[in-house]
Amino acid sequence: MGKVFTPYKNKWIETFSQQGSHPANYEVNLKKLTKWENKKNILVHDFYAQIGFEKTTPALSGGSKEALKRLTKFEKKMQDYADLRNFPSVDGTSNLSVYIRHGNISIRDMIRAAKISQNQGAQTWLSELIWRDFYEMILDVHPYIENESFKRDYDKIKWPGEASHFRAWCEGKTGYPIIDSAMRCLNETGMMHNRLRMIVASFLCKILLIDWRKGEKYFAEKLLDYDLAANNGGWQWSSSSGCDAQPYFRIFNPYTQSEKFDAEGKFIKQWCPELSALDKKTIHAPHKLGLLKPVKYPDPIVNYEAQRVKCMDVYSVVKSEK
Ligand SMILES: Cc1cc2nc3c(=O)[nH]c(=O)nc-3n(C[C@H](O)[C@H](O)[C@H](O)COP(=O)(O)OP(=O)(O)OC[C@H]3O[C@@H](n4cnc5c(N)ncnc54)[C@H](O)[C@@H]3O)c2cc1C
Repeated sequence: MGKVFTPYKNKWIETFSQQGSHPANYEVNLKKLTKWENKKNILVHDFYAQIGFEKTTPALSGGSKEALKRLTKFEKKMQDYADLRNFPSVDGTSNLSVYIRHGNISIRDMIRAAKISQNQGAQTWLSELIWRDFYEMILDVHPYIENESFKRDYDKIKWPGEASHFRAWCEGKTGYPIIDSAMRCLNETGMMHNRLRMIVASFLCKILLIDWRKGEKYFAEKLLDYDLAANNGGWQWSSSSGCDAQPYFRIFNPYTQSEKFDAEGKFIKQWCPELSALDKKTIHAPHKLGLLKPVKYPDPIVNYEAQRVKCMDVYSVVKSEK
């Protein structure tokens, strides 16, 4: 099995066009299923609480009807997916991951929907569904990645990050508005936009210099769409320790990412209301206002430029990618 996404995707599409998306002819033996007995008399509405879920605001409607409704809604705007999918304040993605995770929708139905709309947006969306599949395959073939870096060399890294910085990252109090708004959104809704997941993950590993496994674990506790393969794949991609990950010297700049993907500061204002009086020029880096910075908002816990330099040093134990 390959370790690089593009050849995997090409093979996937080639196989799909030969075999189609119909289920393979598996033999079904219902007797092999385990029967669940409600010995502790768990009430249905208590069930999710008992297995560790907390209520979120807004609450999501569950079930396959809701999932299909969302797919139908998304099909109408799939053609715009390639252009809109990176902007957290725009409803440009399918929002189906929670439904996939809970078995409310068939991934084959989603693939069929993408194949019917043959436009650029549909092709980009199909690619994302193949990324999901790719990470499932990688975890299946290399199960050690659950706890270790895919590129084992990366486990030589000694992470100097501080516990107080990790706490600030979790609580959305880093003084970096794009990070703080993303983390506050995660804490309250159990969801986070993909672009923001990439920004906060890169920030944790490469700017706060904290082991990716701590961030991965925090996401696992909070995400309603938590999926071991996709979460591990996303974290290892961001920390550069994964297969076909971004090279370690590529570090997301939280300021420019914020200016590019939340240009008007709409998303930031939603989750960091103490910044709502700022204009689109100052909202991405309020510390630059000096004494005029809103008092309730923290100063940056670290200096981005200085940490960037430190990151190159911390990662220098990895020799494989110069
Ligand atoms: C650090 C990090 C952690 C992540 N953790 C998870 C996780 O626990 N569970 C999860 O489902 N996704 C995870 N992702 C992938 C991605 O962020 C979510 O799948 C996406 O945001 C869900 O929104 P959507 O359903 O609107 O996606 P859409 O953009 O509409 O995409 C459709 C589907 O494709 C799949 N998909 C899209 N992007 C990815 C991707 N990069 N990797 C794998 N599958 C993808 C998902 O199943 C998604 O529902 C993670 C990404 C990163 C960078």
